[in-house]
Amino acid sequence: MHAIAIDGPAGAGKSTMAKAVAKALNYVYVDTGAIYRTLGCHYEMLGIGPKDADGITRLIGDAYIEARYTEQGEQRMFLNGEDVTGLLRTPEISDYASKISAFPVVREYLLDMQRQIAREHNVVMDGRDIGTVVLPDAEVKIFLTATPEERARRRFEELRLKNPKTSYEKVYQDLLQRDHQDTTRKIAPLRKASDAVELDTTNLTIEESVEAILKLAQEKIR
Ligand code: C5P
Repeated sequence: MHAIAIDGPAGAGKSTMAKAVAKALNYVYVDTGAIYRTLGCHYEMLGIGPKDADGITRLIGDAYIEARYTEQGEQRMFLNGEDVTGLLRTPEISDYASKISAFPVVREYLLDMQRQIAREHNVVMDGRDIGTVVLPDAEVKIFLTATPEERARRRFEELRLKNPKTSYEKVYQDLLQRDHQDTTRKIAPLRKASDAVELDTTNLTIEESVEAILKLAQEKIR
């Protein structure tokens, strides 16, 4: 099986690039953020706070999480048999995912599931620790970045479609906080793998970024 790992901070364009690359190569696109978000959803539904270490540890085994892929290659997330895909991309669940993902028990719980998907399919997998921890042998590793202002602008445009009252300043501050949480946690912090290629997308169009990744894939995957 082949694997392309795309890591980077929120709003760098990981999912947009990963989806397009997966489509071009006919690989499965795996959004690992959605897996963390699904577990966040589990705790939110149970009224367990995202920093409640005891509650998180005690109730983790009750979360049966599954990623299923439609014929069109779309990833749907199931929590205890229920499709929760539509509930995952809210600021509350972003914060839950970011906070719970700092607990070793959480990362451990979700690790096998991510590796299993890559054993069964050719994947383009995006996240924070794919090149460093989940798939250290991935043939292609990309570290996507963009300035915080540009990343916040992209997230703002996305969230505004769902909620016209979204404020840019709030999105920007949330993003800085999430960057801080993701880069400073002790276990599997967000960082570039030593063998990853860094791609700054601030001034690139989507097509240019996708092109650059496909070129790398062509060189490295035979
Ligand atoms: O990518 P997305 O914004 O959906 O991820 C939500 C949160 O899940 C991130 O802020 C990060 O804390 C966590 N995450 C992670 N490792 C991954 C993917 C996501 O810690 N591989």
